[in-house]
Amino acid sequence: MDQAAALPGAPFLARREGVLRLDGHALADLARRFGTPLFVYSRAAMCAAAASYRRALAGRPHLVCYAMKANSNLAVLQVLAEAGCGFDIVSAGELARVLAAGGAASRTVFSGVGKRRDEMALALQAGVRCFNVESIGELRVLDEVARAHGVVAPVSLRVNPDVDAGTHPYISTGLKSNKFGVAHAQALATYREAAALGGLRVAGIDCHIGSQITQIAPYLDALDRLLDLVEAVEAEGIALHHVDVGGGLGITYTDEAPPAADELVGRLLARMDARGHGHREVLLEPGRSLVGNAGVLLTEVLYLKPGEVTNFCIVDAAMNDLTRPALYDAYMGIEPCVRRRGEPLARWDVVGPVCESGDWLGRQRDLAVQAGDFLAVLSAGAYGMAMASNYNTRPRAAEVMVDGDAVHLIRQRERVADLFAGERLIGAP
Ligand SMILES: *Cc1c(COP(=O)(O)O)cnc(C)c1O
Repeated sequence: MDQAAALPGAPFLARREGVLRLDGHALADLARRFGTPLFVYSRAAMCAAAASYRRALAGRPHLVCYAMKANSNLAVLQVLAEAGCGFDIVSAGELARVLAAGGAASRTVFSGVGKRRDEMALALQAGVRCFNVESIGELRVLDEVARAHGVVAPVSLRVNPDVDAGTHPYISTGLKSNKFGVAHAQALATYREAAALGGLRVAGIDCHIGSQITQIAPYLDALDRLLDLVEAVEAEGIALHHVDVGGGLGITYTDEAPPAADELVGRLLARMDARGHGHREVLLEPGRSLVGNAGVLLTEVLYLKPGEVTNFCIVDAAMNDLTRPALYDAYMGIEPCVRRRGEPLARWDVVGPVCESGDWLGRQRDLAVQAGDFLAVLSAGAYGMAMASNYNTRPRAAEVMVDGDAVHLIRQRERVADLFAGERLIGAP
């Protein structure tokens, strides 16, 4: 039976005759060819995700800014730029990646609570589309930096709308208690100050309420709060060109059923129309929903270690490769790359080699596995490689992009020597 419909990432991820394939490529073959741990992404899946956003925005001035912290591989940026996306960056390092991938600074917005002066200067020189300013202190520094460079910085205030996105506390960002954004009650005064500073040009308004959001209601609440402010700010003669509704749309890891991007965007646009804001340029900052279900992490089973209480399936990928389970207690689907027919399932905790009890990828999973098998951790295209570390001096995984019949190695596996190349022994006393 083809169980494609049940897999997150379908139709690009599908099992046929027991063999798990991403866009037609057998994952076990890729694991053998490139080694494990290995991230594999589908170009077609990313393009389909981008198309869903853009379909709903057709005929409107808009810019979909891919929040590249979700997956910043240059080839991923290239694919999304070609699909019509701009970028949402949070550091000068991410700006360098956009430019290296052929993306345009003029289609890039700069978010983040802690931008440094040198990062502002680089972004001004490159000509970014807008700074999403998160505090009054940042606003004043940006004004100084812009005037010192003889330019005017386009700004949008990231407003904290104080709505509950109903998501995990670590990835909820739109509540008063979060460090992000300018409080809604202070926003009007902050816009007045921005409009009075010579180094700044007010361009828009912005919010981002959290991540892995599976409901439309919090978005509509946040949009209403933003539009209230837009009306108040414009009543004072300060024009706001664009409205940036942020990112955060969830994906399916197990049984979540988030709205499709085009459905969400359709509802947001309808609300803007209903309130007389249909003419405004709309910006969005999706990260996870553009890339998450487009990727998997492949790993080899090293050892099976049945125990009295828990059976451990020890694999060669670990929390340093994919930290979401350890960090957020996140569930990620785990599937054998080739299904063993007729073998009984046993219940396993799938764990990595890192010396931490928190190093697990999945708990209490029913699998028929043997040492040497390859497993795929699903929905690993977002916040996977981007959050990888070298803990335990583990070289980071390789990354591959499947693209029609072609398979591209888009990042070679790190070598151990790379890991300590910058380190120095101390001289003799
Ligand atoms: C992380 C982030 C996003 C993207 O969030 P996703 O949940 O990946 O869509 C968008 N905007 C800002 C400011 C962010 O920090």
